[in-house]
Amino acid sequence: MKLLVTGGTGYIGSHTCVALMDQGYSLIILDNFSNSKSSVLENLRKLNDNFIFYNIDVTDKKAVEQVFSKHEIDGVIHFAGYKSVEESVVEPLKYYLNNVVSTMILVKVCKKYNVNKFVFSSSATVYGENKVPFKEEMELLPTTNPYGETKAMSERILMDVAKADPNFSVSILRYFNPVGAHESGLIGENTKGIPNNIMPYISKVAKGELDKLKIYGNDYPTPDGTGVRDYIHVMDLAEGHVAAYKHLSKGVHIYNLGTGKGTSVLELVQAFEKANGMKVPYEIVERRPGDIAVCYADVSKAEKELGWKAKRNLIDMCRDAWRFESSI
Ligand code: NAD
Ligand code: UDP
Repeated sequence: MKLLVTGGTGYIGSHTCVALMDQGYSLIILDNFSNSKSSVLENLRKLNDNFIFYNIDVTDKKAVEQVFSKHEIDGVIHFAGYKSVEESVVEPLKYYLNNVVSTMILVKVCKKYNVNKFVFSSSATVYGENKVPFKEEMELLPTTNPYGETKAMSERILMDVAKADPNFSVSILRYFNPVGAHESGLIGENTKGIPNNIMPYISKVAKGELDKLKIYGNDYPTPDGTGVRDYIHVMDLAEGHVAAYKHLSKGVHIYNLGTGKGTSVLELVQAFEKANGMKVPYEIVERRPGDIAVCYADVSKAEKELGWKAKRNLIDMCRDAWRFESSI
């Protein structure tokens, strides 16, 4: 069982690689290190070395074809892409070019080499301001940024391809808020510069690298006024990919990968303090433009069809996030 994983040295990709290798898959990992470090490979090898690596840009069709021509590939898991919502507003073309074109090129090469199994990283952001809990069959509402649009477009492209080719099996995974790190502390979320996402920000405050957390608004219609999200341990998310790959069947299947439970920013801060026995200073500031009040998943479809359910709790997420952050 040989799988090709794009973006495999990134945050979610690296954890999923470990989960796949633990299940006996051998991997071909592609990444161009545009948002990851080559040192991830050394740490991955300490956990499991059943992979080979190519430093390749997935939008380079020739280079991707060369890999497909050299190996018997059973399926593809496509993580590679840019993910900063803010940057996508400033540089939309960079996002459309990388995120949409990489998906099209990979699918085209898959078809040429008769690889018919494809798993795609999508995002809860495609639900826009639908009513919670978000369900897979909901009509997608416009997202407020180009990043979200690249995910919605890639989903549509995959649906059209599967409609036209009855042999193609696609699993679209809509992630909620992945946080935490592998229990070994060897891999985790290694953000460049000041983090945009909350867990790496909290971790840097705990470490003393940043002064205090800025909580973006406490006047949302939520129990304590702060934003509510569905945080999921990255290893649960990784295991969700293994389940999705094992259950691939013809056509397109969409799954939410979350816990189904909403947590407010203040609750997350308290959980971090409790898990790690430390204080996280914070201040309340203005809302962040583009943020929605509440986002959490209905996870019943993944549980029913994939037999997968998130197992780790908020304390595990905070403890593992800090274990990794304090080691780097
Ligand atoms: P990440 O930036 O840590 O990982 C992405 C990896 O892809 C990086 O290692 C980067 O170097 C690589 N990459 C980017 N463009 C490439 C290209 N053209 N060729 C080769 N490699 C390339 O991000 P992540 O958090 O691990 O996210 C993985 C996927 O999941 C992305 O598609 C992202 O949009 C999606 N996603 C992430 C989140 C999240 O909160 N982290 C939520 C929903 C969806
Ligand atoms: N958030 C915050 N301060 C930060 C970063 C995020 O208060 O420095 C809040 C944000 O408003 C949202 C939640 O934390 O309610 C999760 O934000 P994140 O950027 O991690 O993920 P998103 O859900 O926006 O993709």
